[in-house]
Amino acid sequence: MSVDREERARMASMVAKIARDLGIPCKVEEPLGPHTTMGVGGPAPCFLEPTSAGILAGLMREMAAAGLPFRILGAGSNLIVDDRGLSTPVISTASLSGEPERRGESVRAPAGMLLPRLVRRMADEGLGGFEFLEGIPGSLGGSLSMNAGAGGRWIGDVVAEVETVTPAGEIGSHRPGQEEFGYRRSFVSQQGRIVTSTTLRGRADEPQAIRERIRDSRAYRVATQPLSERSSGCIFKNPDGDSAGALLDRLSLKGLSAGGAIVSERHANFIVNRGGSCDDILRLIDLMRERVRQQAGIDLQLEVVVWRDR
Ligand SMILES: Cc1cc2nc3c(=O)[nH]c(=O)nc-3n(C[C@H](O)[C@H](O)[C@H](O)COP(=O)(O)OP(=O)(O)OC[C@H]3O[C@@H](n4cnc5c(N)ncnc54)[C@H](O)[C@@H]3O)c2cc1C
Repeated sequence: MSVDREERARMASMVAKIARDLGIPCKVEEPLGPHTTMGVGGPAPCFLEPTSAGILAGLMREMAAAGLPFRILGAGSNLIVDDRGLSTPVISTASLSGEPERRGESVRAPAGMLLPRLVRRMADEGLGGFEFLEGIPGSLGGSLSMNAGAGGRWIGDVVAEVETVTPAGEIGSHRPGQEEFGYRRSFVSQQGRIVTSTTLRGRADEPQAIRERIRDSRAYRVATQPLSERSSGCIFKNPDGDSAGALLDRLSLKGLSAGGAIVSERHANFIVNRGGSCDDILRLIDLMRERVRQQAGIDLQLEVVVWRDR
């Protein structure tokens, strides 16, 4: 056994023991591709699914005491994971689940809840104001971390309170100000906190009116995004004063490919995965960046998060 494999096995057994003691489901050598919308990614040495903030806090304390690294996975809709896998344990928030609780014109929901489900559930209850989030296939926690948004609005605009666990295992709640959110960043990502639940501020409305706005937003996405294919949403952030998608389109990059990774014909800032590998996708990203640098003199920055050891 090589030193790397020995170290990996040693870490996996330490994490598995901590998980067992805390009653947390733990899978060993779990492939990550199926946990992402792009569909690529090799195994994590351990894959843990804590079911509550208290259990997650206990896990964090034990892992911190043992000096163990970790990564947090939401719905995997903004992630590209190395085919060779990772050396760090992965903690999934999928089991931080449960029903959203409506409180007047607000709703408190668990971090693992998917945005489309939350938005539709609230439409049925006559709580609107979140329709712009409907087509974003992320979890509530991942969307807070990324300050996800669409149509010029961000989730940070409607957040009232965020409950988090720190890497040291402290549970806390925070009422963030607008300045704690920015373009695809938030205090969550900047401070390395883990979101366990969030309260969003909406406004009461007729369910039918909310459903119509959801239908409009869905129709726009269906017309402009490759929703039937594997992707991770927009690859690059918008450069100052321009849209990355429009820029890539102007440079005729639609259809450019590397192996099974192809720039979508429907949206030039989406890469669709037709049986490609993580390496194909990263090669295509480099090609796109290089073309934009050479032909427009712009250095595009990644919006997607890439997980790889080196
Ligand atoms: C078809 C499609 C359309 C999309 N459209 C949009 C769009 O319109 N607007 C937009 O903003 N995005 C869009 N996205 C991208 C993506 O859905 C969002 O960025 C989403 O918010 C990511 O959430 P997630 O749960 O999937 O996070 P993941 O991809 O699992 O993780 C993303 C990051 O968040 C961190 N994270 C995850 N959960 C937590 C948590 N509980 N606490 C702390 N950190 C956490 C992860 O560690 C990682 O760094 C789209 C993606 C697809 C596939």
